[in-house]
Amino acid sequence: MQTADAVVIGAGINGAATAYNLIKRAGIKNVVLLEKQLIASGGTGRSAAIIRQHYSNEELVRMVKRSVDIFDNFDDEVGGDPGFVSCGWAFLIPESVSNGFGTNIAMGQRLGVDVREISREDLLEIEPRIDLSDVHRIAYEPRSGYADPRAITHAYVERFVDLGGQLWQLTAVQGLIVEGSAVRGVKTDAGEISTDVVVDAAGPWADRIARWAGVDLPLKITREEEIIFETANVGGPPRLCFSDMAKAIYYRPDGASRTLVGRGFPKDYQYVEPDGYNQEVDVSFIAETTERLYARWPSFTRALALNSYTGLYDVTPDWHPVLGRVDGVDGFFLCAGFSGHGFKIAPAIGEIMAEEIIDGAAHSIDIERLNLRRFAAEALIGAAYGSNRA
Ligand SMILES: Cc1cc2nc3c(=O)[nH]c(=O)nc-3n(C[C@H](O)[C@H](O)[C@H](O)COP(=O)(O)OP(=O)(O)OC[C@H]3O[C@@H](n4cnc5c(N)ncnc54)[C@H](O)[C@@H]3O)c2cc1C
Repeated sequence: MQTADAVVIGAGINGAATAYNLIKRAGIKNVVLLEKQLIASGGTGRSAAIIRQHYSNEELVRMVKRSVDIFDNFDDEVGGDPGFVSCGWAFLIPESVSNGFGTNIAMGQRLGVDVREISREDLLEIEPRIDLSDVHRIAYEPRSGYADPRAITHAYVERFVDLGGQLWQLTAVQGLIVEGSAVRGVKTDAGEISTDVVVDAAGPWADRIARWAGVDLPLKITREEEIIFETANVGGPPRLCFSDMAKAIYYRPDGASRTLVGRGFPKDYQYVEPDGYNQEVDVSFIAETTERLYARWPSFTRALALNSYTGLYDVTPDWHPVLGRVDGVDGFFLCAGFSGHGFKIAPAIGEIMAEEIIDGAAHSIDIERLNLRRFAAEALIGAAYGSNRA
């Protein structure tokens, strides 16, 4: 039987970053990364990949701040090009929901994030084409932006393999081997692997993997939709990324000419099964999202949609990830439930998971509150704006 020091299940960005860090930082060579499809074929490959640092909890701010440093110096820190575009990010808030806004900015500043509140006039100097009449307050982060989710996952996997890690693509995990209170291996459709360390980074399928270890991971899967517009003919894409809570949409440049748009909260979530869900984008979504975009960007009314697609969020009861060891199952680690935030924090997640596994506890960032046990203890994590606006 094949043996491994550690097996990571799922080659999305979080599994890839964890596998890489296990070898690079922790020095354990015999690591297997299992992927039932191809790398980045889960939520990662469909991600808007917007990187902003405005969060309600210190853990998330610290994670994304550390990640921005890695995105920014990726070639030195990891190697390769993550497609990071540090174009800036603006958060547009309507009058009705400004609770928590100032507190979050102050916390970000205290933790060293380059963030400040700016006026509508300030923003119009950066991006003069938008109608801000319904916007009450604006947060601005000049160092934030977006990256290429496939490119960065590929870079992590490539470095992992360079360092001696094994990538098994097109290999599905079908069960876990658990003896007493410890994990002892993984059953795949290519045979069994004996190991004392299993990391569940299976995104929308992570609850199934956890069940094989006798662990109840509370996940709901939501179906998300995005549209790409051609905006070369209307003056080019936005000059920065936006989370627009006033119009309940987000948008960002997609290269030099296109604009990526998705719907944010408040909206009706569609809960689905991750296998066989309807991947066709709803006509009503395209119509409504386009209307919201045109209202914010009057000069975009001649911009045509080129492409649209769906993807999945793996959502926990408090819209925060579940990280770290699991009480009662030695050697089983959760790295899942990213609830729509898991791209921007992944570089830090890889480091934290390696610390948790090798050193016994994450130490660069405290993840105690993000452990699975918070659900049984009814210690859910709160957020200033509620749900996915964590
Ligand atoms: C439309 C959309 C927009 C988003 N926008 C943003 C954003 O702007 N900013 C941000 O930070 N985040 C965003 N997110 C969220 C972010 O993309 C995800 O949280 C993150 O990519 C999840 O990565 P992951 O590695 O945890 O999981 P995934 O990418 O889902 O990877 C899990 C992998 O596990 C594999 N797998 C599952 N079961 C098995 C098995 N049995 N055996 C082997 N392999 C298995 C899957 O095939 C998959 O490749 C968005 C997500 C979507 C869908």
